[in-house]
Amino acid sequence: MKLYIVATPIGNLADMTLRAITVLNSVDLIAAEDTRVTAKLLEHYNIRKELISYHQHSGHSVIERIVGFLKQNKDVALVSDAGTPGINDPGNFLIQEALKEIPELVVVPIPGANAAVAALSISGFPTDTFTYLGFPPHKKGRQTFFRNIGAVAHTVVLYESKFRIQKTLESLAPLGRRLVVCRELTKQFETIYRGTAGEILSQLHDKNLLGEFVVVIGPQRRIKQDIGQNDNNEEE
Ligand code: SAM
Repeated sequence: MKLYIVATPIGNLADMTLRAITVLNSVDLIAAEDTRVTAKLLEHYNIRKELISYHQHSGHSVIERIVGFLKQNKDVALVSDAGTPGINDPGNFLIQEALKEIPELVVVPIPGANAAVAALSISGFPTDTFTYLGFPPHKKGRQTFFRNIGAVAHTVVLYESKFRIQKTLESLAPLGRRLVVCRELTKQFETIYRGTAGEILSQLHDKNLLGEFVVVIGPQRRIKQDIGQNDNNEEE
């Protein structure tokens, strides 16, 4: 009886790990954020398994069904549409509820792709400390959200959609920080933009506004940017 939390690719199907394939082949049930998206992935890897839809609006009956499998000593895998479940994707609530009903449940991470970590890894900014903020709020709390980023001295990473990337870059401009904007990571049109918000905004138009985005905000300038190790990250 195990609940596997399985990371899947964020675009490039080759980013599936061997362990993820083995686990998905071995479980009794796969809970997927969108069964159509996961069906394509499973087809690509020739994995035939029963799928159940589990997403943020799933009612308690779905959780009960998953817990029912686990109680029968069966193994279940959870996957999201892309990347690591639980990171701005469904997962946490299922784990909490399953553990309430089965305290001895073993929850196993099967690590793999994650858009924020991929972006941080190529940012060149110090990452010994960083703040992950998910998606900026659309309306309520938006101004406070960006003002608070200004108070964070170290690297910040956030997600944004093609519909709001321009607006978010405009909101980040007054901070005067260096940014790395990653578009379509691991996919055919992967593009990395480096510079100030203004510089990146001038490169982002029309087709460059398609796709998915991660924004990495560099540290305040008084933090040394050269080495990503704790003791080298002191204020000058
Ligand atoms: N759980 C996922 C992960 O581990 O990265 C994140 C899910 S969140 C709902 C989706 C957001 O992640 C997108 O709107 C985008 O901001 C970011 N994202 C996902 N895939 C991406 C990619 N290939 N390139 C750039 N950003 C991506």
